[in-house]
Amino acid sequence: MERQIRVLSRNEDCKVVEPAVAWNPVSSVVDDRNSCDTQAGPSLPILRKAHAFTRANQLRDAGLYPYFRSISSAQDTEVMIDGRRVLMLGSNSYLGLTNHPKIKEAASAAVAKYGTGCAGSRFLNGTLDLHIELEQALARLVGAEAVLLFSTGFQVNLGVISALVGRGDYVLGDKSNHASIAEGCNLAAGSFYRFPHRDLAALDARLEKLDPAAGKLIVVDGVFSMEGDIIPLPELCRIARKHNAAVMVDDAHALGVIGRFGSGTASHFGVTDQVQLTMGTFSKSLASLGGYIASDAVTIDFLRHNARSLMFSASMSPANAAAALAALEIMVSEPDRIARLWNNTHRMKQGLLSLGFDLGASETPILPLYVRDFLTTFTMCKRLHEEGVFVNPIASPAVPVGQELLRLSLMATHTDQQIDFTLEKIAKVGRELGVI
Ligand code: PMP
Repeated sequence: MERQIRVLSRNEDCKVVEPAVAWNPVSSVVDDRNSCDTQAGPSLPILRKAHAFTRANQLRDAGLYPYFRSISSAQDTEVMIDGRRVLMLGSNSYLGLTNHPKIKEAASAAVAKYGTGCAGSRFLNGTLDLHIELEQALARLVGAEAVLLFSTGFQVNLGVISALVGRGDYVLGDKSNHASIAEGCNLAAGSFYRFPHRDLAALDARLEKLDPAAGKLIVVDGVFSMEGDIIPLPELCRIARKHNAAVMVDDAHALGVIGRFGSGTASHFGVTDQVQLTMGTFSKSLASLGGYIASDAVTIDFLRHNARSLMFSASMSPANAAAALAALEIMVSEPDRIARLWNNTHRMKQGLLSLGFDLGASETPILPLYVRDFLTTFTMCKRLHEEGVFVNPIASPAVPVGQELLRLSLMATHTDQQIDFTLEKIAKVGRELGVI
């Protein structure tokens, strides 16, 4: 599979001068002779920030860089990294379904039937019967009139919030909301207010000052992705009703974890009829990639024709849609998985608390192990990796400076031995670094 590339001369204003070297698409050798850039990067004002960016290199120089670790196996309770087996405590695969044979078979069958891509947006040529089947299954699960799929959860938050919150409207969000919610709010033409984490009195006070007739959307994570705590949704819905505001809940970390059959935060609290919009993602419990918004049929139809991240982006690939559908069926038909996830969570949580770690206000399988020091957090992450345990270091901007933590996420498929091994290693490294 070789083809010719065009070699561009620096002096010839990007005109083709000669066919030359063979290009191998799988080779890692980059031929930079086809660059039109006649100036060195640092002299271009727009690129100066990239050349002045040192944070990643500082971590690399200190031997503490923890990102983009390359995994050469399936995402499971154990993964292969650099030829070594490492215990995975940093995955969002809460139900442990990413390597499930039935889901892999469903994805393969979808590739055989539909091919590998949809080559267009849902809006135009990219809607499959499979997408509609998945939307209907999700609508049944969350008790909504209608559901609309997007290609990622990030795109749901971008597209839905920016389509709904127009000029003169308001959107109000928790300060710990996921980055995709914050970006959706930034993109919206209306005014954006943030209230302190789970401070519903502050939310109420802010709403009090707004024009009672204006459009208002309150948007929150159901389960907060860094802290692992849950929004007090019944109280939030009461405040929303008082001020004529709509409620949107991001259930990325709640789906498969809380609520009836893992259906999320509103079900967990019994307030399904008081939440107007629920978003979720397939990239966590449902072992795939893609996202959805659930709401009433009229709102979903509006979003179908106004959410730009849906209309101008290609639809979920057939394999992703089939995998999410198969995972959803397993989630609902094997509720024992959720019970195992919670047993594992309790075992790990009790172990960490009895070792003396601070887990903040976590109430879910997301366990934030507060270290509250940047260097110690990254050193602990590196030492745990050396000891065979993968965890994620979390620092600014995901959490405020001084609130650095290691995030552990449990899976239904972790064994007691794996949890006890992790506890042993965390105790060893935590003592070594004076965290406990
Ligand atoms: N919301 C929350 C709370 C998330 O944690 C994430 C993913 N990290 C998203 C939205 C975006 O979902 P996706 O991975 O499907 O883009």
